[in-house]
Parts: sequence; structure tokens; C-alpha cells
Amino acid sequence: MSEPVRRLPPWLKRRLGAGPDFEKTAAALSDLGLETICVHANCPNRGQCWQRGTATVLILGGVCTRNCRFCSVAHGRPEPPDPDEPRRVGELARRMDLRYLVITSVDRDDLPDGGAGHFRDVVQHCRNMLPALQFELLVPDFRDCQDKALEILGAARPFVFGHNVETVPALYGRARPGGDYARSLRLLEKAKDLWPETQTKSALMLGLGETDEQVMEVLHDLRAVGCDRVAIGQYLRPSKASLPVEAYIAPEQFDAWAARARALGFTWVMSSPFTRSSYHAEEKQA
Ligand code: SF4
Repeated sequence: MSEPVRRLPPWLKRRLGAGPDFEKTAAALSDLGLETICVHANCPNRGQCWQRGTATVLILGGVCTRNCRFCSVAHGRPEPPDPDEPRRVGELARRMDLRYLVITSVDRDDLPDGGAGHFRDVVQHCRNMLPALQFELLVPDFRDCQDKALEILGAARPFVFGHNVETVPALYGRARPGGDYARSLRLLEKAKDLWPETQTKSALMLGLGETDEQVMEVLHDLRAVGCDRVAIGQYLRPSKASLPVEAYIAPEQFDAWAARARALGFTWVMSSPFTRSSYHAEEKQA
């Protein structure tokens, strides 16, 4: 493996920023005791997203049962799901008058349904409070319970169904030791088979040491399981304990990936250095 790259290129220098709407989002999250992946993943877009009144809520606690090496979320033994959390997420949506809400969670391999029932409860609670609210669920791979989890989630439709492959299969051993590329593709495929009208979405990070050919193969694999949407962004080391960045990909290369993804038939594509799976998720594309 090459020597890790340390200096941030100019196109990745961005101030976190703040403003009245950023503070409003931060206050609502803190008042309601809710967690976000924005904070847990040390996301560089926080200033921009929170200022726009969008955030990605992290349900089911801030402790993950896995230990992906690109992620800074704590790992260990999580607490049981909080039965009051659906109400608080609903209250956040109401208070911020949200139109679009992305909900994600840590991996909950300790729960028999992988946390699917809690996702469903959160969506249903929010929808009762704000019927027009649209949802995007970014779910874990539901290791041993994919069929059961999808059956449960079916009751919470409609939503965009997201599950991230994160990186190329050759890097799973190093970056995502608890994951399984084929299992992730299987989940996306099952969701599409069950709910053909539901938009499915995945995301991957570049800069972990993958080759262009490997990325192209992932895009082909995603299309082969009917995946409609893709987000491609630059991996940025979220903490000192995380994997180093192997390469900074220039913005023009991200543009080239966007063009290739569209040519393959993805109907919604976001590809730029700052793209994250939830970045501008509400954006409508032709
Ligand atoms: S891109 Fe997603 S994770 Fe990052 S700040 Fe925006 S909503 Fe949060």
C-alpha cells in the first residue's frame, strides 16, 4: 500500500461555518437528545446542511456492534432501543418543519430484527405528525435477518431505501471487516424485488486505495441489482484511529464518475469530493 497522503488539497478546505439556522438545528437536536451521523462521522458538510435545516438522524444509539475502520462511531455493546426515540424524532421533524428526513442507524447485530422495527416506528410516528414528510432510510445490512427486516420495513413505505456498499469488495477485509459485499448487494436486490416502485440507493467513498476498474465494477454490480441512485464522495479520515486517506480524488474525476454512473442508468447521481450518502438527498433529479 502506498504512503498515506497527509496534506489536504485546496478543494477540500472548507470551514465548518455557523449561522442562526445552524444554531437552531443544533439546539433542536440537543434539546431532544437526538444523535446525528453528521456529528458522529465528523461530517465536513455540517455547516452547510445544518444551516439549510437538514440533518441525518442516527437512531438506535451511538454505539455500533461492528468496527468499520473508515468510521468513527464508537463500537461495543449498545443499549436497548429507546422507546421514546420515535416521538422525539417526530418532534424534531415538526419543530424544524422538515420536508425530507434521512434516518440511519448503527449496526445492531444484537437485535433479532437488526433494528428494523425501530426504523418502522420512527417513520410511522413522524408521518402521523407530519403526513407530507418524505423519508430516506439508510439501513445496515441486516446480517442474519434480511427477509424479516424487509418485511417489517414494508409497513413504513414509501421511502427511498438506502444501503451503502461504502467501498470496493477488495478493500472489505481492511475497511469493513464485519461486512460482506455480496450480502450488501443481496439486500439492495431483495428490496428492489419486493418493492419495484421504491427507489434504492447506495454510496461509496473513493480514496481508500481502490482502482478505477474496481469502482467501475461496483457501479455495474449496483445496476445489476436494480439500484437507482448512487452517491460517490471522497473518504476523509474521521479520527486518528481510522484508516488513512490513500488518495485525494480531483473534482474533475468525480465529474467523470457522475457521467459514467448516468451512462450506466442510475437516475439520481451525486458525485463530488464532499458528497456523502445523505448530502442533498432531497434533491430532485430528472
Ligand atoms: S452530508 Fe449528511 S451526514 Fe453530512 S452534515 Fe449533511 S446531512 Fe449530515
